[in-house]
Order: sequence, then structure tokens, then C-alpha cells
Amino acid sequence: MSSLIEVNAVAKTFSSQNGSVLALDTVSLDVAEGEFVVFLGPSGCGKSTLLRIIGGLTSSSSGYVRIGGRNIAGPDPAVGMVFQSYTSFPWLTVEDNVAFGLELSGSSKAGRQRRATEILGRVGLTKFARVYPSQLSGGMQQRVAIARTLALNPKVLLMDEPFGALDALTRVEMQSFLVDLWMQERKTVVFVTHDIDEAILLGDRIVVLSPHPGRISEIVDVPIPRPRTIEMTEEPEFVRMRHRLRTKIFQMASAAA
Ligand code: ADP
Repeated sequence: MSSLIEVNAVAKTFSSQNGSVLALDTVSLDVAEGEFVVFLGPSGCGKSTLLRIIGGLTSSSSGYVRIGGRNIAGPDPAVGMVFQSYTSFPWLTVEDNVAFGLELSGSSKAGRQRRATEILGRVGLTKFARVYPSQLSGGMQQRVAIARTLALNPKVLLMDEPFGALDALTRVEMQSFLVDLWMQERKTVVFVTHDIDEAILLGDRIVVLSPHPGRISEIVDVPIPRPRTIEMTEEPEFVRMRHRLRTKIFQMASAAA
């Protein structure tokens, strides 16, 4: 697999009236095309900042990000983002939400509708095309947000704790939905979480970040075969991995406190 995302010596300092914070300190990372990479670490270790820099929403203080060989200097059509809060427009139906981004991209009305119908089918929302997002459960609303992003056909999907606001059961359903979608769509996914089980269930590789300043502490391959199910979280290999990651994150969090 060739490398699609190249993060090269990226550092980020935030300055405020109370001084400056080194949020990321020379982080380098390659993500292969089609890979599912998870950023894991305690709060404040720079996961969101790194994701936002990859997505062109935050500028780096030094270093660079390239996607498909192109420097990222702002939002890029190759990159779609999904956040924890549901980013749908409440005044538009589900179908119109999905078609909305396409309007900006200049597609014809018929083309937009065709695309919206196709995407809604792929994410299991066909029945809900004509309802408003507020009429849907949290999990379904997050599917709408994912569908809106997918409609623009990005190569890379950046996801910042997208299931963080969901109840435990819906979260498990959405994890499995996302992996199925990733396998079908062959996207490259970078996913931020502080939930260790979620990281192991989803990732090909887990990038563990340590705080103050944010650095890559280690990169772990997840050797557990797919499809991974919630039952597997009790199996010895999963339990061992969870234990090792938990100990590591605990140590980092205590050292930073
Ligand atoms: P994480 O996603 O791992 O919780 P963040 O990337 O949100 O971490 O934050 C990393 C560090 O950068 C934290 O110390 C945070 O307070 C600081 N930080 C993040 N965004 C800003 C900002 N816009 N202004 C000032 N400091 C920030």
C-alpha cells in the first residue's frame, strides 16, 4: 500500500494571553491508502489538533501535511470531516442535507438528487430521506453527517470522536456500521478517540499520543482479525492489548498531572 497522508515534523503552538501552549511537538506519521488509523490518548494530548491540521482547519506552526502528494493549506476536496456534534442543517430534510454540499460543488439538481439517493441507500437511510434530522435518534443523525461527507466522495475521512455523544449500545452499532462502510467504500480513515476498546475494535494501527507537549508515544498494529465483534472484547488477545494500552495511558496521564 502506498502512503496517502504524509505528516512531516508537524508542530503547533497556541498563543494566548496566558502564554503559549506547545500542543504538538514534531509529529511525523504516514498513513497508507485504505488504512484505518486511530489517534488515541488522554485528553489534551493534541489528537484533535493533529486531526484538524491534517484536515486543513488549523495551520501548523512548522512542518507540513501532504495528501496524495499535495500540500494541505486549507480545507481540501480530498478530505471529509465528521465531528462529535451532528453537523446537519436542522431546516433541511435528510435528503436535502446530503445534497447540500453537492450544490456548492456545482452539480445539477437531478445529479444531486441521484447522488443523495445513492448515498442514503449506502448508509441505510433510504426510509428517512424526507424527515428532518431532529426526528432521528443520535446514531441516525450521525449517519446523516457521515452521508453528507461521503456524498462529496473524499478519499480521506477524518473523524473526531464521532460517537462520543452516543449511548453505549448505539455506539457499538455505529462502530460496526463504520467498519462495514469503510470496507465497502475503501476510504482512508483517521479516527480520534480516547476510548481504548473503540480504538482496538476499529483500527488497523493505533497511534498513541502523549500530552504536554503532544507527541507520538508509540504506534501499535492491531493484530486482531476482522470482522471484529463486541464479543471479541473478552478474548485474551483483546484483553491483553486493552491492558497494555490502559497502563500506558494511565502512566502518561499521571506523569502529565
Ligand atoms: P485532545 O484532542 O487530545 O484532547 P487538543 O488537540 O484539543 O487535545 O488540545 C491539545 C492542547 O492544545 C491542549 O493543551 C489544549 O488546551 C490546547 N489547545 C487546543 N486548541 C487550542 C486553541 N484553539 N487555543 C489554545 N489552546 C488550544
